[in-house]
Amino acid sequence: MSFTSLGLSPSLLPALDEQGYSKAYPIQEQAIPPIINKHDILGIAKTGSGKTASYALPILTNLEGKTSTKNRYIDALILVPTRELAVQVEEVFRTFGSALSQRIKTMAVYGGVSINPQMMKMQGVNILIATPGRLIELVESNAMSLSEIRTLVLDEADKMLNLGFKDEMDKIFSFLPKKRQNLLFSATLSDKVDEINRVLLNNPVIIKIEEKDENINLINQTAYYLKEEEKGPFLRYLIKNEDLQQVLIFTSSTYKADNVADKLRTNGIDAQAIHGKKSNKARTDALKNFKRGALRVLVATDILARGIDIEFLPCVINYELPRSPKDYIHRIGRTGRAESPGDAITFVTIEDQQHFKVIQKKMKKRIELQDIENLNLQGY
Ligand code: AMP
Repeated sequence: MSFTSLGLSPSLLPALDEQGYSKAYPIQEQAIPPIINKHDILGIAKTGSGKTASYALPILTNLEGKTSTKNRYIDALILVPTRELAVQVEEVFRTFGSALSQRIKTMAVYGGVSINPQMMKMQGVNILIATPGRLIELVESNAMSLSEIRTLVLDEADKMLNLGFKDEMDKIFSFLPKKRQNLLFSATLSDKVDEINRVLLNNPVIIKIEEKDENINLINQTAYYLKEEEKGPFLRYLIKNEDLQQVLIFTSSTYKADNVADKLRTNGIDAQAIHGKKSNKARTDALKNFKRGALRVLVATDILARGIDIEFLPCVINYELPRSPKDYIHRIGRTGRAESPGDAITFVTIEDQQHFKVIQKKMKKRIELQDIENLNLQGY
C-alpha cells in the first residue's frame, strides 16, 4: 500500500521517497492510521518488520506544529532496552523529523556515558528516546519533565523485561500523566508482556505481524563440519578466497569475540569486536564504521543479534552456535532482509552436531553439513 493514503503529514511524503520507502510495510499500513487517531497499540512484530517507522511517522505527524511550548517538557517518550537501539531509533526520527515544516528536536539518552552533556542538551527536546536507567537519573536530576508526555512507546518490551527493567519501567510510568497514548511493541507476547499490556494499554488495537517463512528461505544457508582448531584458518580462508567484504561474525563469549577479531587483524583483515564489555564509544564507532562499509569484519556476541538493523548485510558467520534456536534465527536474520538475499555460514564441530540438529528442526529447514577435509588451509 502506498504511504499517501495513511493520513501522514504531507511533509513526510518526499522524505519517504528519498529513503526508498515506496510502499508501506504491513505493520505500517496497520499501525499508522490508529496511531494518528490517538489509539493505543499492541504490536507484535520483530525488528526488520519496519516497526520503527510505523510509530515514528505517525508520532511526527501528530506533533507537527503542536509541540509543547514549555521548555524541557517532553512530548513523546520512546523507551528502548539498549543504547544501540536508542541510537538507531533516533536516526529514524531525525531523518523524517527534518522533513517537517516545524523543527522538532529529537534526542537519544542512554547509560554508559557521562550524564552532564545529556542534561545540557535537553533544552528544547520534544521527542526523547531513552534506556530506562538513564532516563530515571535524568528525571530525578530535573533535567526535564515527563509530566506532559502525550505518547509513550515501549519498544522491544519483551527484551526490556528479560533484561530485568520491570521495576524501572514501573517507576517511569509513575512520572507520566494518566491521560496519554501508549504504544507497546514486542517480538513475542510472553506472560510478562501481557501483564504490562493489561496495566498500560487502554483498549488497544492489536497488530500481529507473523514472521514470514520466506525470510528464512531468502537466506543461503551453508554449514561446515570442522574441528575447533580449524575454525580460525578456515574463517580467514573464506574471507580471503570468497572476497567477503562485509561480514558479521557471531561468537558465544566476549573473550572469543576479541580473540577472533585480534587474529583476523594479525592476518591483515580489518576487524573489530563489539560486545557488552566494550566502551560505549568503541561499540558505536565499530557499528557505524561497519554499517557504512568502512570496517570489513565485525565480531559480535548475541547483544547484536536482536534489535540492530544493518541494511544489505551480505554475510553472517556463526563461528560458534548460539544456545537457542531462536537466537540462531535472529542472528541469520541480519542477512536476507528487505528482499536482499544474503549468506549465512555456520561452523559445526562434533560437539555441536546434536544441537545443530535441534536448530534445524525448530527452523524447519535441513542444511547439509559440508566437509572441509580436502581443503588445504596452510598459510591461512
Ligand atoms: P525496523 O524493523 O524498524 O528496524 O526496519 C527495518 C528496515 O526496513 C530498516 O532498514 C528500515 O529503513 C527499512 N524500512 C522500513 N520501512 C520500510 C519501507 N516501507 N520501505 C522500505 N524500507 C523500509
